[in-house]
Amino acid sequence: MAQAMRQETYDVVVLGGGAAGIAAAVGAAKHGARTLIVDAGPMIGGELVSGIPLDGCLSSRGEWVVGGAVRELLAECDKLGGYIGPIRDYRSLTIVCYDTEIMKIAVVNWVRRHKIDLLLYTFAHDVVVSDGRVTGLVVLNKNQRTLLKAKLFIDCSGDGDLAIGAGAPFEVGDAAKGELQPVTLVFRMQGVDAPKLLQFVRDHPENFGLGEYAGLNLTKAQCAEALQKQGLPKVFIVAEGPVLGAAIASGEMYKTSMIGATPISLARKEVSVNTTRIGHLDATRTDKLSQALPDLMEQVWKCATFLQKRVPGFDQAVYSGVAPRIGIRETRRVMGEYVLNDDDVKEARKRPDGIAKGAHEYDIHLAGTGHIRHAIKDGGSYDIPYGTLVPKGLKNVLVAGRCMSATRGAHSTARVMGTVMAMGEAAGTAAAMCATANAWGGDVREVQVPRLRDVLKAQGAVLDGTH
Ligand SMILES: Cc1cc2nc3c(=O)[nH]c(=O)nc-3n(C[C@H](O)[C@H](O)[C@H](O)COP(=O)(O)OP(=O)(O)OC[C@H]3O[C@@H](n4cnc5c(N)ncnc54)[C@H](O)[C@@H]3O)c2cc1C
Repeated sequence: MAQAMRQETYDVVVLGGGAAGIAAAVGAAKHGARTLIVDAGPMIGGELVSGIPLDGCLSSRGEWVVGGAVRELLAECDKLGGYIGPIRDYRSLTIVCYDTEIMKIAVVNWVRRHKIDLLLYTFAHDVVVSDGRVTGLVVLNKNQRTLLKAKLFIDCSGDGDLAIGAGAPFEVGDAAKGELQPVTLVFRMQGVDAPKLLQFVRDHPENFGLGEYAGLNLTKAQCAEALQKQGLPKVFIVAEGPVLGAAIASGEMYKTSMIGATPISLARKEVSVNTTRIGHLDATRTDKLSQALPDLMEQVWKCATFLQKRVPGFDQAVYSGVAPRIGIRETRRVMGEYVLNDDDVKEARKRPDGIAKGAHEYDIHLAGTGHIRHAIKDGGSYDIPYGTLVPKGLKNVLVAGRCMSATRGAHSTARVMGTVMAMGEAAGTAAAMCATANAWGGDVREVQVPRLRDVLKAQGAVLDGTH
């Protein structure tokens, strides 16, 4: 059916309403830019509302390395009673936990408070570009096709649809090996008996990932004891352990490196479970992604049954829900003016042009039971320079989040939600600085990075002073 093309004009259009996109939109709107979020899905928040906790907010040493937008959203969630807070996993990380269901409300309240327009159920399928400048984004929904015009566009699509559509160079996973991190369907269990589970950890630490961060200075047994004292059901059941290992060997469980359980509601005794996986799947192939759903659902049910049968503390628990969509770890990375590299992250490098910090471990999930993980030097943090937000060859486009400019290894740490929100906030703030300036010449390279850093710091971002 032929449709007439409507036209709408904004200061800033953000493609993608995941963790990076909502932070980018808030960053822009806060500084007076008329801002729109476009998303193909029915909801905003992305993986923030799938059940997983926020990684990358605190370093392994336990220092906060993000502030600003992340803290604002957590405060919004706290107001509604949904904030659990930072907890140590006594493996290698400190994560930030919250109630996923309350977070769904918090993200919408947050975006509404900042007067950001939403265009959901809407797919961006074409980019109009002239001389390195995006002049319009063509989006399609049930009503009609619309040409969205804006001074600046921020690509938070995870897949780089906008920047790549406009001609930016990109890389995909490990191109040489044809490898991409697996996709996962996160699910939830209610009625988990935390004291019983933690006693099992204490009695059989060999089943759990514990004591990997050297800075903890604790044996596995001491970590199990500390986890028990903390009292929250944050555990990683590992494939090398006897219980999960035997279940994989017998076919009772599918091949996975781990079953990660994270508390999401203390009142409901509910945890999210991150474990299912299908490897070697290009999630930009919508046909393949759709075909993965039945197998992932089968894995969800297998794992829920395994936990009830084999893991003390889960024996009375019940399956209570599944994430709204298949989780995608890795697709395309847009190449920018700077490409964050493996040494930058592993060596915890600091830079004068840093606009965000990352601190999550180097973390590449492989198909089956494989998993590559390395700590950041001294459990510290690294800086992400402004150039990673600026796609090569484009003038009025910024990119943030999962499709950022990085090597595959650097991406494996910077892709987590605390970090992508900090990046998003920086991109949104930079976009507003351009869009609202009378003298802006039309290229995001004109942004004075020291000034951007000052503005970000004034709104609470952590850019200096961490290990
Ligand atoms: C299973 C799993 C477990 C994880 N565990 C953790 C964890 O414990 N802690 C942590 O911090 N991080 C974790 N991560 C990583 C983290 O969740 C993601 O990398 C991060 O949320 C990416 O956010 P994003 O906003 O960049 O992209 P996305 O969340 O992918 O958002 C992109 C959005 O863009 C929209 N979009 C894409 N293309 C178009 C288009 N053409 N038109 C319209 N809309 C479009 C999509 O609908 C989507 O909503 C995990 C990831 C997965 C998949």
